[in-house]
Formats: sequence, C-alpha cells, structure tokens
Amino acid sequence: MLQARLMRLDAVGERITTIANLDSGEFDFSQPVAIGGPGNGQSEAYTTAGLISDVEQLESQLEDRTQQLEIIEGLMADRKIQSDVFIAGRPLERGWIASRFGQRPDPFTGRLAFHAGVDFTTGQSGAEINTVAAGVVTWSGPRSGYGLMVEVNHSNGFTTRYSHAEKLFVEVGDIVKKGQNIALVGSTGRSTGPHVHFEVYKNGRVVDPAAYIHRTAR
Ligand SMILES: [Zn+2]
Repeated sequence: MLQARLMRLDAVGERITTIANLDSGEFDFSQPVAIGGPGNGQSEAYTTAGLISDVEQLESQLEDRTQQLEIIEGLMADRKIQSDVFIAGRPLERGWIASRFGQRPDPFTGRLAFHAGVDFTTGQSGAEINTVAAGVVTWSGPRSGYGLMVEVNHSNGFTTRYSHAEKLFVEVGDIVKKGQNIALVGSTGRSTGPHVHFEVYKNGRVVDPAAYIHRTAR
C-alpha cells in the first residue's frame, strides 16, 4: 500500500514539474521505487529483517519526495508573488482612454505640453480606480497638480500613480493587491473633468503606460 501511494505521489510530482515548467533535472520523481515485494514473481516469504529494511527504504523515499514537493511549493509561491507585482491591465474596468502619453495641447493653456500619463474616463465621477499590480502605498493624499493621488510601489523598480481622485481608500504603508479598489474617479487638482490620470515609473523615470495596459498578466 505504501509503495502504491509513493508511486502516485511521484506521478503527481512529475505532473507538477511539467506543468510549472520547472527544471526537471532538479526534481526527480521518475526514479522507480526500488523495492521488491509482492508481485515480483518470487515466492520467497518476507523475513522480518527484510521487511524492516524495505519499510525504512520507503520511509526515506517518502521523506525525499516530501522535501522535493515542499521546495516546489516555495517556488510556486514566489512565482505567484512575482506575477502579482507584474504591472498589467488598466485602472478602470470600463471607460475609454481620453488622452495618451506624449506631446499634446495642454487642456488649460492650449500650448503643446508633455503628458506624462494616460487618462482613463467613464465620463463620470465615482468609478472605481483599481491597482494594476500588487504593492505598497507610498502616497495617498493631495499632491500639487495631481489632486487626490495614490502612488503604489511594486517593489520591482516599478511605481504607478492614480490621480485626480474624488475619494481615497488607502493610506501610506498599506499593502494592496492587484486589482484592489484604492480610490474613486474624480476631477481634483489640475483637471478639466472626471478621469484618472495614470502614470507608470520604471526605476524612477516616467514611461509610457501603453505597453503595460495592453499586456496581460502572466
Ligand atoms: Zn492626464
């Protein structure tokens, strides 16, 4: 029975290794269970010493498989965290892009000016602003030009900002999940109508969010 269970455990381990694309050299569930026992064609009766040694061998194999599966569990957990801080998607579930990143006529002065983010809107205040990745809140409150703003540090060199909010739901130091509702769309600060001005920073430099908006979570 133990032997059969070990074999099933090995099959599960092998499948997980394959599905998760783990280096199969590092994990080895394919070694045959090296043990005799009933059904091997021999009619010899088990001796007590032989049985004990077989059980001990099974025990050490079970210990080995347990360790391997625990390492895999750790690797999968790390990967989950990595994928959660991976910036992907948009801060509003619905709505459209009202203004893209780059040069544009300033809505206040009419002069050509650099727009450092992407504006999303549903045309109304009150829509939910959601994070595009997990992280830690590093700003939540009014900021010059931005109105009510939330900044999230994603710990992988990326920071995102969500501004002109009507209402904020997080505080500095809060840990936020991917897709968490952190604020409501408003028109605070330097804004001509309800929208969320979304910015992405990579290693401290503002970048075009377009590439991150359009990619999907891995
Ligand atoms: Zn904007």
